[in-house]
Amino acid sequence: MNSPSSRLHDVVIAGAGPVGLFLACELALAKLDVLVLERAEHPDTPLKQPPLGTRGLSVATAEALYRRGLLDELVPAVPGASRKAQAGHFAGIAIDPAKIDPAGWRYRLPNPASANFAADMRSVESVLSARAVALGVDLRRGHAVTGLDDHGDAVTVHAGGHAFHATWLVGCDGGRSAVRQLAGFEFPGTEPEFTAYSALVEMADPQTLPPGRHATPAGFYMNEPGRIAIADFDGGAFDRSQAITPAHLQSVLRRVSGTGVTLSAVHLATSFTDRARLATTYRRGRVLLAGDAAHIHSALGGQGLNAGLGDAMNLGWKLAATVRGGAPAGLLDTYHAERHPVGEWLLDWTRAQAAVMRPDAHGRALERIVRGLVDTPDGATWFAEQLWGVSLRYDLGGGHPLAGCSAPDFEFHDGSRLAFHLRAGAGVLVDLDASPPLRHAVAPWGERIVHVACGATNELGLSALLVRPDGVVAWASDTAPTAEEIARAATRWF
Ligand SMILES: Cc1cc2nc3c(=O)[nH]c(=O)nc-3n(C[C@H](O)[C@H](O)[C@H](O)COP(=O)(O)OP(=O)(O)OC[C@H]3O[C@@H](n4cnc5c(N)ncnc54)[C@H](O)[C@@H]3O)c2cc1C
Repeated sequence: MNSPSSRLHDVVIAGAGPVGLFLACELALAKLDVLVLERAEHPDTPLKQPPLGTRGLSVATAEALYRRGLLDELVPAVPGASRKAQAGHFAGIAIDPAKIDPAGWRYRLPNPASANFAADMRSVESVLSARAVALGVDLRRGHAVTGLDDHGDAVTVHAGGHAFHATWLVGCDGGRSAVRQLAGFEFPGTEPEFTAYSALVEMADPQTLPPGRHATPAGFYMNEPGRIAIADFDGGAFDRSQAITPAHLQSVLRRVSGTGVTLSAVHLATSFTDRARLATTYRRGRVLLAGDAAHIHSALGGQGLNAGLGDAMNLGWKLAATVRGGAPAGLLDTYHAERHPVGEWLLDWTRAQAAVMRPDAHGRALERIVRGLVDTPDGATWFAEQLWGVSLRYDLGGGHPLAGCSAPDFEFHDGSRLAFHLRAGAGVLVDLDASPPLRHAVAPWGERIVHVACGATNELGLSALLVRPDGVVAWASDTAPTAEEIARAATRWF
């Protein structure tokens, strides 16, 4: 090991996956000194490219990217991108978009990020890494984190034969996180029921395998032109450290489909299980976890990346405020308090889907009931709310029904929208009555809170609200607030 460099970074991030890169952007936006250490030498792999690298991004993710001006960069970068809303599915049961009734989403305003969309990992990572580097992030590839020492006031991180020092370390190094293990995080959960495969294949006898999605006594399979997906309820028996050979894939496909289909070529294959684990805490001393490093679960319903980017958006401004000094006591701990329940929800969401897909009489019975529910307007609306992230509300305690929710994207009379004011990563006091005393009330928070004193075309009966840098409403009022109320809310978060 070379002698340690003496430079003290504000934050070292392990892992330049989407979560590490987005967090790096958030921290660099606040002008922190950020070093990202990535194990892989090269950013691209075939599994990051479409179609196997395609990920469904929720409305909540689209909003986060929109608020940082990244959505407009990402959408053109995705090959064949379509912003057409995808309603999504639960355990393969499609949600009918026509049955979703957004009328109950009282505080949601239509905006350029109102729709789910699909993007491949390569495009997501290349847009985020370009932004991170442009903001001054030091991104070093070929640096696998292999050791760390938490000294109490700083962390030493060992990677690529060097030692790096930082005030904070964030493990964004994926499901098998070295940081999580090295820092001693507990990671309890449940063992898998199935192994799932997704592969690009050619068949010698395509007529042998019926097209479409099919439930069978051994699991599920889906047959699309050039592509198969299989869920084999093998109890997670397949050793995923082994390569997926064509012979293995064919044997699983034959067994699950009950056919004698022959694969003449396997171009690319990947696997995952429904093993579900969640770190008991998202912070230990000077080490934090985000994304798959904090939560693993099956890819069913496509939520992992969305949750991870949500972690990064939630953590970034809190960690930045903590590093810069002057953050309210306990601000950083609200990261765990707000995001750990999301991780718990995520694990349950994927476990429930595994239960619905179980290839036995109980699973089939459950599936029929869920299918019936999803088919109703209330059911479709509820499932969409969960999948799109529009029902997410942090428990900020009491107050207005909008507190803890994503802020409405007001269209102000000056032509700007709320998202524009969030772009630089500051909080925003939205003062729809343009009341002079509020300007004085936020003056002590200087650049940390932007004051937007302007009416909007769509005020939703609100008078004023304080929006955190992550776009979450910290406080709201339907009537003209006093300067003291504003100051109380600002003191809590800024
Ligand atoms: C088949 C499949 C389909 C999916 N579909 C969806 C979907 O539709 N929607 C969705 O939201 N999610 C989906 N997911 C989940 C999503 O891909 C993950 O949740 C997401 O990639 C997690 O991002 P991350 O940055 O936390 O981790 P990763 O993407 O795993 O990135 C971790 C990074 O850390 C690096 N690393 C690892 N170890 C070290 C180390 N020791 N030192 C330094 N660097 C290290 C890795 O090389 C990698 O670059 C899917 C997953 C799979 C497998």
